[in-house]
Amino acid sequence: MLVLNNVTKRFGGLIAVNDVSFDLGDVGISGLIGPNGSGKTTLFHLISGFYTLDSGTISFMEKRISGLPPHAISQMGLSRTFQQTRVLPFLSTLDNLISAAPNQAGENILALFFRAKKVRQEEAFNREKAMDILDRLKLSDLAHLPAGDLSYGQQKLLELGRVLMADPRLIILDEPTAGINPTLIRDLVTTLKALRDRGIKIFLVEHNMPLVAELCERIHVMDSGSLIFSGSPQEVQGNKRVIEAYLGR
Ligand code: ADP
Repeated sequence: MLVLNNVTKRFGGLIAVNDVSFDLGDVGISGLIGPNGSGKTTLFHLISGFYTLDSGTISFMEKRISGLPPHAISQMGLSRTFQQTRVLPFLSTLDNLISAAPNQAGENILALFFRAKKVRQEEAFNREKAMDILDRLKLSDLAHLPAGDLSYGQQKLLELGRVLMADPRLIILDEPTAGINPTLIRDLVTTLKALRDRGIKIFLVEHNMPLVAELCERIHVMDSGSLIFSGSPQEVQGNKRVIEAYLGR
């Protein structure tokens, strides 16, 4: 699915990601943890094409993606969310999802004239798909409210919904539960497990350790830019190097 080979990223003299290699394999939900400043966000930016690598390669479904721009990576089926939500506050919740659908024929002015029927069919399809996603995220009742009226946690769920409109094979989530209330966290957990059961792979950065242990089959641990350990939640919890990294030695 996702393979990193000797990935390195420097900011001036600082090595934010240092020769990191791993393979997500066929794992349903994988986690990335590590103390603050260990390079997790930088690694996610590298995978999703927002930063360019200094050296190394990244492949997704056996195709090289390092060097490609974010939209090309997303079109290949690898989508991500951000720590800060990017919903469009003045559009309705429903229209936020519809506008996230890729390759809309209606965006092409000629298609509007010559393929009006196809455009209408596509719009109906995207609308139905968006309603279905809202239903699964338990946001249907809010479909017609401006997205800016939703709570912060609901906006984070909506952002996940926008990602789902692109039918991703792998979703990268950057701190999905940060700042959201416990009830919504449980909704999010249910949604993530359901997505996993439908075959969508998930890779998340998360500080909520009990949640990481509950959700992730495999956890990758970073410290000072390096990958220091990969294993099951039990193995990670008992690993001396991981404990030292968190205690600051
Ligand atoms: P984490 O997500 O694990 O907290 P980051 O990837 O944000 O870690 O940061 C790793 C290191 O890289 C930190 O020392 C941080 O200060 C540095 N860093 C991150 N982004 C930049 C940037 N755009 N410019 C310079 N330094 C950066």
